[in-house]
Amino acid sequence: MPSECLFCRIAGGAVPADIVEQDDVAVAFRDINPAAPTHVLVIPRRHVASAAELGEGDGELLGRIVAMANRVAASEGIAEGGYRLVTNMGDDGGQSVRHLHVHV
Ligand code: AMP
Ligand code: ZN
Repeated sequence: MPSECLFCRIAGGAVPADIVEQDDVAVAFRDINPAAPTHVLVIPRRHVASAAELGEGDGELLGRIVAMANRVAASEGIAEGGYRLVTNMGDDGGQSVRHLHVHV
């Protein structure tokens, strides 16, 4: 349920986060338990449980998320050296928060 979803609450401002960038479609904020010197999560404002729910009609949403992730990489100073974009899906995919997020 979006009202109970942690990342919906972060996107809506009900739960504080260290926000790096946001626009009308997506929000980027620092991972609370960073696994790398730069570890930012990019989420859609709209509740999507995981990338497993995305299809051919979601190209714009995915493009906006990836574009924000790439801008974050540039602003964090890691774009030239290289970085990973990762999204986990479901229990066996290691997904702990059931709102689509891309790890930068
Ligand atoms: P995943 O395991 O792919 O679902 O990733 C979830 C990520 O969300 C983990 O890396 C957590 O450290 C991170 N996380 C959980 N709660 C918060 C929070 N309140 N603010 C920022 N990051 C969080
Ligand atoms: Zn949500």
